[in-house]
Amino acid sequence: MNTPPFAFVKENHPLGPHTLYRIGGPAKWAFLPRDAHEAQTAYTWIIDQKVPFLVMGAGSNMLIDDRGFDGAVLFTTELKHREACGGDRFRLGAGLPLADMVRTIMLPNNYAGTGALTGIPGSLGGALFMNAGTVNGTICQFTETVILLTPSGFTTIAMAPELYGYRGQAFCGPDAVIVEAVLRFTPSEKDESVVYHHYIQRRLDTQPQGWCCGSVFKNPPNDHAGRLIESCGLKGTRRGGAVISEKHANFIMNEDNASFEDVLGLIQLVKDTVFAQHGVKLQEEVRIITPRSGPGVPPA
Ligand SMILES: Cc1cc2nc3c(=O)[nH]c(=O)nc-3n(C[C@H](O)[C@H](O)[C@H](O)COP(=O)(O)OP(=O)(O)OC[C@H]3O[C@@H](n4cnc5c(N)ncnc54)[C@H](O)[C@@H]3O)c2cc1C
Repeated sequence: MNTPPFAFVKENHPLGPHTLYRIGGPAKWAFLPRDAHEAQTAYTWIIDQKVPFLVMGAGSNMLIDDRGFDGAVLFTTELKHREACGGDRFRLGAGLPLADMVRTIMLPNNYAGTGALTGIPGSLGGALFMNAGTVNGTICQFTETVILLTPSGFTTIAMAPELYGYRGQAFCGPDAVIVEAVLRFTPSEKDESVVYHHYIQRRLDTQPQGWCCGSVFKNPPNDHAGRLIESCGLKGTRRGGAVISEKHANFIMNEDNASFEDVLGLIQLVKDTVFAQHGVKLQEEVRIITPRSGPGVPPA
């Protein structure tokens, strides 16, 4: 197949440096559109060519195969536009880092919700796709509309509670791209900067620092994946350069040039052990990407 005819495409582009795991081989084609129009042009070409397709935000929730991705990866990184719409509403590009949104929009206006969103290292688009958040709330609760690229063009979705749940949503499938969203905030009655610093410190106290994807597994109903893994005595277990963190059992760290297989081996070990000892089937929160899989498709 011919090289895509766009200046913003790179061939054989390494993906590992774009992830917070620092793991993963190259993409056959990396599309780095600089605005929504270029994103649409890229998307239309990709859909027409029927090549395997993957959207990447900040890569903070992805474990990518060392063989890479044998298709088109569309990066939203440059889609960082922002516009105040009045009435505490903001139109924000999917590539905007969530941390920027918290620091430059929520804190200066003392908006409620910093407890839900502080310390999550992804982009707005990735956060919406995952419905990222904490026990204090999630991104979709602050969202009024989402603008998607779909095979029929730009599509506006009005957010509603039935469209999202725990670390998932029903408005954006793996063949669509979140391009931007309108968020609506509410002024808080407490000092949100105190809340912000509390949760930054709490993460430093409870989570390990280093290359990782945050929580590897979703919490099963009424329990914590970390508690189950710790109770199986798996903290500190190593495979190659990967290790199950001593500080938080639901974090698998790339400590020393870990490979995809190193991390995947620990993921399987955890699933098998927790099922054998507790009868609980843990489900991955991290998106595992193999050369021809889309997001969320288990490795072959
Ligand atoms: C240290 C650490 C702490 C973390 N803490 C939390 C936490 O407290 N709560 C939490 O929920 N998560 C947490 N995470 C996980 C991660 O940060 C979130 O899931 C984040 O929202 C992912 O955003 P991203 O831009 O990095 O997405 P990526 O990793 O790039 O992608 C994740 C998924 O979203 C899809 N996607 C990304 N952008 C788009 C788009 N624009 N349109 C369509 N699909 C898209 C991708 O295809 C993929 O399936 C943590 C991760 C780390 C490393």
